[in-house]
Amino acid sequence: SLPAGVSSRRYRRRSNSSASYRVSSCRAACEMVEGAFPSWAAALDRLPESALQQVSQLYGSRPMGPADQPDYVNAVVRLHTRLSPLALLDQLQKIEREQGRVRKDERWGPRTLDLDLLLYGEQVIQHERLIVPHYGMKEREFVLLPLAEIAPALVLPCGTPLTELVARCPRNGLEILACATGE
Ligand code: AMP
Repeated sequence: SLPAGVSSRRYRRRSNSSASYRVSSCRAACEMVEGAFPSWAAALDRLPESALQQVSQLYGSRPMGPADQPDYVNAVVRLHTRLSPLALLDQLQKIEREQGRVRKDERWGPRTLDLDLLLYGEQVIQHERLIVPHYGMKEREFVLLPLAEIAPALVLPCGTPLTELVARCPRNGLEILACATGE
């Protein structure tokens, strides 16, 4: 589902990047029941100089940290973009703000939408605002499984095949919720 009137050919020197989503389960589940493209995916589809290529299914996961929280809904997308990594991060944070995330002190407390930049092509980035590959992605079932769905042959910049990480990752009750169509 490319932005209307934009040919994917316009993006010649593009790099691959992925972002992951943790959205409140109620909201995402309702959207899927109605068959709508989730609002965060629609927002990504509208990013400048970018084209949304793939969206994984939605995965329900147990919250990290405090247990008195609702389950999370997670997905991973592949985006082709000409935005720099920091410009893409700015855009992701803008979508988070627009879609109602309230930043609280509690590190792993409930949140409405969390967009993380997992990978940016082969790049390794150590910036005060941005660490890529995302620091938690190698251990998190709710990142690895949806990522493997859309990029089964992926090898991380460190040389580790994604399949290896998936094989040794406990599932922690992760479950597929619904199919995020919109291609
Ligand atoms: P969190 O509240 O866990 O989503 O963390 C958000 C903060 O992490 C932001 O201030 C970002 O600048 C920083 N950050 C570092 N690396 C990343 C990344 N790969 N994706 C998203 N945010 C990142």
